[in-house]
Amino acid sequence: MTAQELPIVIVGAGIGGLTAALAMAQRGIRVTVLEQARELREVGAGLQISPNGTRVLWSLGLERALRAVAVEPQAKEIRLWSSGETWPLFDLGASAVADYGFPYLMFHRGDLQMALAAAVREAGLHILRLGAEVVDVVDGDGCAEVLLASGERVSARAVVGADGVHSRVRARLFGVAKPVFTGCIAWRGTVPAERLPAHMRRPVGVNWVGPGRHVVTYPLRRGELVNFVGVVEREGWETESWTERGSHDDCAADFAGWHADVHALIDNIDEHYRWALMSRAPITRWSAGRIVLLGDAAHPTLPFMAQGAVMAIEDAIVLARAFHRFGSDHAAAIGVYETARVERANRCVSLAARNRDIFHSDRLLDREDARRYVATQWSEDKVRERYHWLFSYDAVGGALGPPET
Ligand SMILES: Cc1cc2nc3c(=O)[nH]c(=O)nc-3n(C[C@H](O)[C@H](O)[C@H](O)COP(=O)(O)OP(=O)(O)OC[C@H]3O[C@@H](n4cnc5c(N)ncnc54)[C@H](O)[C@@H]3O)c2cc1C
Repeated sequence: MTAQELPIVIVGAGIGGLTAALAMAQRGIRVTVLEQARELREVGAGLQISPNGTRVLWSLGLERALRAVAVEPQAKEIRLWSSGETWPLFDLGASAVADYGFPYLMFHRGDLQMALAAAVREAGLHILRLGAEVVDVVDGDGCAEVLLASGERVSARAVVGADGVHSRVRARLFGVAKPVFTGCIAWRGTVPAERLPAHMRRPVGVNWVGPGRHVVTYPLRRGELVNFVGVVEREGWETESWTERGSHDDCAADFAGWHADVHALIDNIDEHYRWALMSRAPITRWSAGRIVLLGDAAHPTLPFMAQGAVMAIEDAIVLARAFHRFGSDHAAAIGVYETARVERANRCVSLAARNRDIFHSDRLLDREDARRYVATQWSEDKVRERYHWLFSYDAVGGALGPPET
């Protein structure tokens, strides 16, 4: 087989890897996805996908499948930790569609991953290989090679490292990215909506803000579940994992003095997960030779802009478009991809880090001062300045390098 007949191999069947596989397969590109998990199970909780992400997913023909599992919220609100006083953050629902042409949706991560995997399987029987843990990647003469834990070697015309925040592909290219503890941990869980009072079952996302901590809640899975993420500034525990359990009592203690609605959520979570929030210095090169990164492998982010999955989705379609446009010229494709993506994704990473200080301000201690603070930080102009550049981006039809001749 010549190098050009080899597939592009994607390492990781997370949100970014599956989106890239689908976008490539739909463009007639041969692709194989290698995923370490033996089965795709429902791990993780909520993901918010803003219009810049749904634009991509709709372009892949996923609207029907995704609407069947998502929630399309009417709005997002800011609430004060102590009194529960409420202010509008964004109008969503019809407004998101009117402003950006695509909806803002809320998902269980597992539902989005399953829908993408189903579409990938439909696109080609042998594209997705589970139980395929990648242990090394080497760029060779004329092709790249991926080594699996089983000892098998897979040849590729290019390799895409979509293997998430602990990426081995990234470590192979650039060394292990040193994680720095941010001083925050996050509690996470889902609550069956039927356990909550009616006002907490509305199709609305809420950002609770308070000194030194904040809470984000929103409905998932057609409104059957409510997602809870509670971020707390505290030291002494630094495990970065989506599957580490904590206890109800520790979670409740971290939000002592907070509004009863926050405690209604904490008290009704079945499993309280916690993870330490780590940051990593952004990198400005995402590739070496035929090997290129996307999603969290390229730009791990704190979750305070709710854009981790959306950036992975944008990366995926831009990379697929670049490989489609440049055919066998992988260097041109990867170059155009990096030019289109690095600055935007890294800007998002640095704004996410800054959002923590906005959410956790000491000015939220006093109710009167909190009102003045909210009026400035979440004025219509400020919110537009923070989010419009993100939501209005067109990864599907936007320019991709110099015009095609
Ligand atoms: C289990 C899990 C739960 C999550 N839960 C949430 C959540 O609740 N809320 C939230 O906002 N974000 C969550 N995230 C993060 C969010 O999904 C990502 O920020 C975003 O989707 C970026 O996607 P990605 O494709 O870059 O990486 P990921 O979605 O992390 O996918 C990476 C994939 O690569 C696979 N992989 C890793 N190493 C190898 C290897 N050596 N060989 C083969 N395969 C490999 C992993 O098993 C995984 O399937 C979660 C991520 C994971 C992995």
